[in-house]
Parts: sequence; structure tokens; C-alpha cells
Amino acid sequence: MRDNIFNIPVFGALLRSVWFWRIARLTTLALTVAMIAWGWHQHAVPGLSLPDPLMYTNLTNHLFWVWWLMGIVFIALLFGRLWCSVCPLGWLNGIVSRFGLRREMPVWLRNFISVTLVLVILQLAIYFFKLHRFPDYTAILLTFCLLLTIGAGLLYRQRAFCLLFCPAGAVFGLYARVAPFQLRVKQPSVCAGCDSQRCVSEPQEWQKHQLGGSVLYRHRRLDGCPVDLVPAALADSADCTFCLNCFHNCDKENIKVGFRPWLADIETGLRRSETLFFLVLFGMLTANFSKVYVELRQLLFWLPQEVAVLLGWQESGYYVLAAIWVALLLPSLLMLPGYLILRAAAIRTTSITDPDAGPGLFVHDERSGFWSSVGQLALPMIPALLTAHAVLAIVKINAKAAYLPFALVDPSGVKSFLAMNVMQTVATPGAVISLDILKWVVLLLLIVGLFLSFLVAKKVAVRQGRPGFLPAAIVSVLIPTVCYFSTVIEWLFVR
Ligand code: SF4
Ligand code: SF4
Repeated sequence: MRDNIFNIPVFGALLRSVWFWRIARLTTLALTVAMIAWGWHQHAVPGLSLPDPLMYTNLTNHLFWVWWLMGIVFIALLFGRLWCSVCPLGWLNGIVSRFGLRREMPVWLRNFISVTLVLVILQLAIYFFKLHRFPDYTAILLTFCLLLTIGAGLLYRQRAFCLLFCPAGAVFGLYARVAPFQLRVKQPSVCAGCDSQRCVSEPQEWQKHQLGGSVLYRHRRLDGCPVDLVPAALADSADCTFCLNCFHNCDKENIKVGFRPWLADIETGLRRSETLFFLVLFGMLTANFSKVYVELRQLLFWLPQEVAVLLGWQESGYYVLAAIWVALLLPSLLMLPGYLILRAAAIRTTSITDPDAGPGLFVHDERSGFWSSVGQLALPMIPALLTAHAVLAIVKINAKAAYLPFALVDPSGVKSFLAMNVMQTVATPGAVISLDILKWVVLLLLIVGLFLSFLVAKKVAVRQGRPGFLPAAIVSVLIPTVCYFSTVIEWLFVR
């Protein structure tokens, strides 16, 4: 039952129903539209010249930045990409693509480059426009995403929005390697002998709808896999969006969805452009994590600050420098020691008698390039990164969750803000659990992440048999975790 949730009594029947998923997706889509309405035109409190007064009291901002963006980290931790199964954007993209041009997405677009750019642009928008502080900006962002998903759906056959524009999907793909949850076929032999191949073939069929004496026949094409996967060939869970099309289309009932051991896919190496995405995410997460530890933050941002001063650039120029630094240079620098250990361990000097191998001849080993090495070293870092991400999410939710009842009663957030800060008839909501408890939870999470990272380092080192991989991986894991641990200790234990 654990490895197939569709077999759970009663609940399993509900999960097998196509209507259950339709209603769930419709609910999240309706919530997204409602969030746009609650945030639209809500920028400030009339008559008060205060910066970002509605940041947490407005329901749109609260739901999006506290619950949605932070909550999906825990979904990713436990269920990998399961959020995608009810994501309103992915679903809308799939529906619209039935009626659009249904073009094939060009091969040169099928990588992580555009999604990496979107992540950087979002970070810049947060720096420049304080996107996360104003409900109207959040509403505009959501509207833009809805329009983009419709546009992408009208153009391409696949879930183009997910592949091109959704950084959350790319983050899920990384974390799905750790999560104990997967979709697989029950018996590969059944797929091997299957003539219909309905799970991948977008089958067409007649459907009969009956109401009393009236009967309606409808001819329709069933949706295939939106990301062009073949369930029988799934080797990892990085790309499956749990849309369940293959489950509903399979006429042999040979698809299962359920739990598996942790870290099951962790040995699946990162693709080249995925390595770039990993680096950007790693840099942003590390910079974000360290921002409460002033000395560490000053150290991490020392170089872009000095360069901005040297060039005489003001705030905006510094933000651009900081974004480039955080997204690319800082994470590359943090990975450099591990990479150098790998390269040093690969040096071998042997006597050869081959007359063609004269001085200056280098034989290139594909695995030893920077991107390929970082892609391999990234694997052991994923658990540590995921737990650091979960820590950020816990801290944020713990600090702001108590605003939710107020935001539900007053979605605009104006009355709540006035009651808390002007009339002071209501106390400003505090943390849900005290810092004395939170600090141990956070520390425990980081320790678990570090332990899992070491476990993965050992696993990958044994499989690869590459000289120096284990020490290189341990150094790569230790560098950021030292930043995370020192931040937590300084912030929650010392201060
Ligand atoms: S990839 Fe992004 S947009 Fe697509 S379903 Fe997943 S969360 Fe939604
Ligand atoms: S069709 Fe199946 S394999 Fe493809 S994304 Fe949907 S659930 Fe995953």
C-alpha cells in the first residue's frame, strides 16, 4: 500500500478519480484568481506614508510569499514534484495547449537556461522593485504568470510554461532526487508487451454521457505526457509532473504512485544546464541564508561592494553587480576547492612508450571539465541545500503564520494594519513557536541534511570510482554548511 497510494482503502478510490484532481486544480486556479483580486490596487494605506505596510496583512502577499512559496519546500522534501499535480499554472498550460498551435518545442529551448534567467530576473525584481513587499506587485506577477502560461500553451504542445519559465519546477526536479515519492510502472514486462501504448500515445476515443433518457457522444483526444516521458523508462523523478495522464490513460492499470526509500534518485547526475541552475540556486540560497549574520554577509558581499565603490556606482549599479556575484561568481568560488581537489587527484604521471604521445599532448577526460565536475559534486550537496531551504521556510512561516487569521478576515490588510500599528487595538502577531524551541528544530534539520549529504557523497564516490571524489565532495558540502551552521548559531544561540 505504501508504494501505491491508489490502493489505500477509500482514499485510494478518491485519488484514482479524475474528478478529484480536476476539483483540486480548479480550486488552486480559483485561489490564484482570487489572490489577484485581493492584491490588485493594494499598494499602501491611504493617508499614511509608510513603506510596505501591507506586506503581511494583505491576504495575497501573505498567501503567496509565506504559505505558497515556503510551503512548497516541504512538499518537495516529502513528495518531490507532487505540487505540480495541482499547480494552477501547469494545469492551465495543459488545457490551453489542446486548442493552440501544438508546435513541438525546439530542442535548443529544452534546457534550464531560460528558467535560470527567470530566477535571476525575479531576484533582480525583488532587489529593485521590492516585489515581495507590495500586494499589487504580487497580483501583477500572478497575472503575468497566467498570461504567460496561456501564451506558452497556445504555442507549444508540451507544458512549455513549466519547462521555460517556472523556477519552482526546476527546484522540485533537484529535490525530487531526495524525496521518498515516485511514479513508476508496476511491472515493466506488462509495458514491454503492451500494444496500445496509451500512456504515451495521446489516444482518441468516443465518450458516452448520459442524463436520464438523453445520451451525448463525444469524440476526444486524451492528453499524453506533457513533458514527453515514457513511464516504463522512468529512471528518476526529476521531470515527471504527476499530471497523472499516463495513470488515467493506461488500460492495463500498470502505473503506481507511492513512497520509496529516501535518496533513491540521488545518483542521477545533473544535466549541463541543470548544473547552471543549481549554481544560481545555491548562490542565492547561501546569500539569503547568511543575511542575518552581519559579519558573514559583509564578507560574502565584500567584493561587489568594493567594485561598486571603485566604479562609483550607486544603489542600482550595486544591485546588478550583487546579482551577478550571487548568481554565478560566489557559488562558483564556493565550488572551486572541491573542483581543484578532483583535478589534483586526477594527476597521474606514468612512463609511456607510445611514440605518438610527444610532449605537450593532453588527453581530455570528459568527466574532468568544470561543468561536468560541478554537476557531479552537486549531488551530495542537494540534501544540505534542501534542508537549508527548509530552515528558511520554517523560520519564515513561524514568524508570519499568525497573520493569517487577520488576513482572512480583512483580505485587503488595511484595517488589520491600522488596528495593529495606528490604533493599537490589536497586538502585532508574534512567532508561532518560541525561538527556544525553533533553534533546536533548525539545528536538527541542518544536522540531518549534513549527514545525508555525507551519505550521498559516499554512495556517489563508490559508484563513480573517480579518484578524489569523496574528499572533494566532503569539502564542497562543508563549505556552505559551515556558513549555514555559523549563521544559525550566531543568530539563534548567541544573539
Ligand atoms: S513546473 Fe511550475 S508551473 Fe509547472 S506544474 Fe510545476 S510548479 Fe506549476
Ligand atoms: S504523463 Fe505520467 S510520466 Fe508524464 S508527467 Fe504525467 S504523470 Fe509523469
